[in-house]
Amino acid sequence: MNELLMIPGPVEFEPAVLQAMATKTSSHISPDFIEVFGHSLERLREVFLTEEGQPFVVAGSGTLAMEMAAANLIEPGDRVLLVDTGYFSHRFASICERYGAGVTQVGAILGDVPSLEEVERNLRGAKYKLLLATHVDTSTGVLVDVAPLGSLARRYGALSVVDSVCATGGEEFRQEEWGIDICLTASQKALGVPPGLAILMVSPRALDLFRERGTPVANYYADFANWLPIMEAYEARKASYFGTPPVNLIYALGESLEEILGQGMEARFRHHRVISEAFKAAMTALGLKQVPALEVAAHTMSAIYYPEGVGKELLGEIRERGVVVAGGLHPQIKERYFRVGHMGGVSGGHILATVGAIEGALQASGYRFELGAGLVAAQKVLKEL
Ligand SMILES: *Cc1c(COP(=O)(O)O)cnc(C)c1O
Repeated sequence: MNELLMIPGPVEFEPAVLQAMATKTSSHISPDFIEVFGHSLERLREVFLTEEGQPFVVAGSGTLAMEMAAANLIEPGDRVLLVDTGYFSHRFASICERYGAGVTQVGAILGDVPSLEEVERNLRGAKYKLLLATHVDTSTGVLVDVAPLGSLARRYGALSVVDSVCATGGEEFRQEEWGIDICLTASQKALGVPPGLAILMVSPRALDLFRERGTPVANYYADFANWLPIMEAYEARKASYFGTPPVNLIYALGESLEEILGQGMEARFRHHRVISEAFKAAMTALGLKQVPALEVAAHTMSAIYYPEGVGKELLGEIRERGVVVAGGLHPQIKERYFRVGHMGGVSGGHILATVGAIEGALQASGYRFELGAGLVAAQKVLKEL
């Protein structure tokens, strides 16, 4: 089990974070735990680059974070405009429909992002309550530039909601400056904490809209009304209870936030850009094509087509060389590509090991290329780290 885990979540976790997971579990109202939880909530604002945002940290996966955004903001009959970039956009549409929203999707060809003009044309044409986007769609490796979506939503009186599960802690994101109302994520991707935490950062505008609801939230566990007093209490360093928090995961979150903010968000964004460029340069040097158009490719992961004559048996060959990567997820091309996560505590060494394993696997599969070309290309970019 000493494999290097290079999938788009869960990722390789820092030893100190794993050590924190092994802390003796304390009461969720012990002073030590209250301090760690309260401090983590404060520090999350620094990660999302907001001062006014309200953090929520709840036991659950990223899908729960999506569901919390939808359940609390949508009332039956509301209209939602969704920027569709793949599998996770479709999931968000289904969740919104479950809460009674009418969802309009604006899409593009697979691997690309719809234009802002098209998004705006839709916003102009009807009254939408929410504008939703997937920051990095993990099925396509497509990155949406969410900054202009924040201002577009405001101009047309909608709230902006961004699924940043595969982005927060890796991709550049400035919640307050960009005017994003809800940014949601999960622990196990670029935040570098084992799976199990759903995390949201909610703007005052979104909380106001939540308070103005005419109907009760149709999901008891997800209801902001149940969690808001808890988050406020922990931040005020007071004991509180609604549902037992995942104590050990919160200790791990506290540790990971120290590491992330010790590095600094600007350095963190840059690190992910360089790592991603190095990996993508290696794939290009090996003659492999990528799913996303290069101008809209994510920095936290890559989605790579298998070369001619090679299929998903490549994954097993890569694994035999000590590295785990993921298969395809988008139903339209599922069998034709693989995905590599490079986020969180990912290092230049991880990239070289991964490229090396891919080269070895390609060679074993009979694909013809210049052995070492990917490593050379990656090394050239990694000098910038
Ligand atoms: C992983 C992911 C999710 C789902 O998160 P889970 O923790 O698996 O529920 C949602 N959206 C995006 C963009 C993701 O990458």
